[in-house]
Amino acid sequence: MANPVIQITNLNKRFGAIQATQELSLTLNFGEIHALIGPNGAGKSTLIKQITGYLQPDEGDIQFLGQTITQMAPAQRARMGLAQTFQVSSLILEYSCLDNLLLVVQARSGSSYSFFTAVRDDQDLMTQAHSYLEQVGLAQRHHLPASALSHGERRQLEIAMALALKPKAFLLDEPMAGMDPAGVKHLIESLKQMREQAPILLIEHDMAAVFALADRITVLDYGRVIATGDVDSIRNNKHVQSAYLGVAS
Ligand code: ADP
Ligand code: MG
Repeated sequence: MANPVIQITNLNKRFGAIQATQELSLTLNFGEIHALIGPNGAGKSTLIKQITGYLQPDEGDIQFLGQTITQMAPAQRARMGLAQTFQVSSLILEYSCLDNLLLVVQARSGSSYSFFTAVRDDQDLMTQAHSYLEQVGLAQRHHLPASALSHGERRQLEIAMALALKPKAFLLDEPMAGMDPAGVKHLIESLKQMREQAPILLIEHDMAAVFALADRITVLDYGRVIATGDVDSIRNNKHVQSAYLGVAS
């Protein structure tokens, strides 16, 4: 079997009296959506922050593409292709959809234009930016400022930008929070598309979405892994049902 994209071994993180991460080991494999579920305060976000480097673990090891990254700064990890997607809205609202995309593809291409006029003259960058908009169904809206988009459309634009970044792994912390059912449905399809490009570590409370998407599910409680398995094994796990599924809204 191929090596995992992310391999976490015996991670521990304490905040005063709270053990937010406890002897936690987990892998994210090529091609999978690995969902991370658990009650509020279980330590899901704390884990993501240790992977991105915004929090330093007390003990343990994190490897990314076979390289130990535990001591690396967040920017260095991001350059390797590891960054949280939709952490805060990354859109520039007064820029057009196309210009938002151009910013990303231009940064990735390594070219350094100081002005949009120059970027817009680069046919290759323009073609790339348009193709990402097309992929998420926003091709017809390319000229509109991001501020003119609906909430759902903004999410689509953020997905286009996440795809354009071409990360080696997607880390998503509750991407469906605050979405209406139509938005959730659309995002489920987009996440399947994203999985084609890179594996996804997905924190999500919407259990229907998790069951529809996940190849594997890991359940956290009090910072510990209490179960890992495929959808059926988690759905039928009595321990999981009492710790989490029974109280899920
Ligand atoms: P989840 O994302 O699963 O809801 P978190 O990772 O946000 O949980 O939090 C796990 C535990 O760690 C909680 O008890 C929370 O209060 C605590 N915690 C998280 N971040 C901090 C922090 N920066 N300082 C102190 N305690 C924190
Ligand atoms: Mg959280």
